[in-house]
Amino acid sequence: MTGYNNAHSVYSASGAYRWMSCPPSALLEQQFPNETSSYAEEGTAAHDLAEHKLKKALKLRSKKPTSHYHSDEMDEMTDLYVEYCMNLIETARTNCNDLQILIEQKLDFSDFVPEGFGTGDLVVVGNGTLHVVDLKYGKGVVVSAERNPQMMLYALGALSLFEMLYDIEKVSMTIIQPRVDNFSTYEISVDELLAWAEEELKPKALLASTGGGEFCAGDHCRFCRARNQCRARAVKNLELLKYEFQDPALLMNDEIAEIISLADELSKWASDIYSYATALAINEGRQWAGFKLVEGRTRRKYTNEETVAGTAKAAGYTDIFKHTLISITEMEKLMGKKTFKDILGDLVEKPQGKLTLVSEADKREAVEPITAEFQIEE
Ligand code: SF4
Repeated sequence: MTGYNNAHSVYSASGAYRWMSCPPSALLEQQFPNETSSYAEEGTAAHDLAEHKLKKALKLRSKKPTSHYHSDEMDEMTDLYVEYCMNLIETARTNCNDLQILIEQKLDFSDFVPEGFGTGDLVVVGNGTLHVVDLKYGKGVVVSAERNPQMMLYALGALSLFEMLYDIEKVSMTIIQPRVDNFSTYEISVDELLAWAEEELKPKALLASTGGGEFCAGDHCRFCRARNQCRARAVKNLELLKYEFQDPALLMNDEIAEIISLADELSKWASDIYSYATALAINEGRQWAGFKLVEGRTRRKYTNEETVAGTAKAAGYTDIFKHTLISITEMEKLMGKKTFKDILGDLVEKPQGKLTLVSEADKREAVEPITAEFQIEE
């Protein structure tokens, strides 16, 4: 490997979309601490549980992990992941009696990215196809597998493990994001993957390793550690405020469409800056001109429900309890999926979601607008 000798290991596969879109972000991020969040911890707990369940399904030894993040929902979602993986494995097995199955496999793609490695949740190889599967427990952003750099990096790592042993022609990459019902698969030939690695990945990694290239703000800023103080992001977002309004007095439709597309990113940016400034004010006493810290509005609550019930009863009040039905997830768990479907299937509905305006890139199918009952007279 040439050109990367002094490079730092700053290129996570999960951040590949970001540093490939904005190469200098890789080094800029290094001055900020690695953030963890309850979402990240929850994701780790889900991965541990999914790994355990998949191993058990494959009759491998595994000790059940414990975590206070475990929940009925996590149980259900990791079951969906395992079901998908087992189907994939069974299908692959029908074509190959020499299948390799790797769970939570360290994948080294340092031939392409300095010191680059990651962990593949599931890698299956046999009979010409390499499968790479990634579980995503988050539900904030729906992630597509299509030309997803993180998945392509994992595929490169898996390829370097097996290319000498198997005749691999294509790679199938799947992202399973069960909480948003996203099962996204993308297939690519090995030749195309390697061409991408040489022509796009390597030059971007080289730029990133030297802090070169242009800062470029976009939706990839979302998890960048520099996002709160990044000037490039501020400049890009403040462009909205420089919008040149011209005659006529009312905005035209295409102007409104342009403002909506900018406003989405602008609101995320404003929210990041607000959270950042609030955290510094609370934790470090930082003063921001024109702002002060106050206590938010709260609602009254009982200090101890048992004591309240006892005290109210002793005072002669008996009609003080409400009965509520257990949740659908709890009921399904209680009865088992099949019985639940048989007994209560017809009594469960999924209400129509509130209509929301989203970017055309969103994977959900477009719906017809509500038809106006009357026309406004011209
Ligand atoms: S916030 Fe965005 S523009 Fe700024 S360094 Fe990070 S990825 Fe690049």
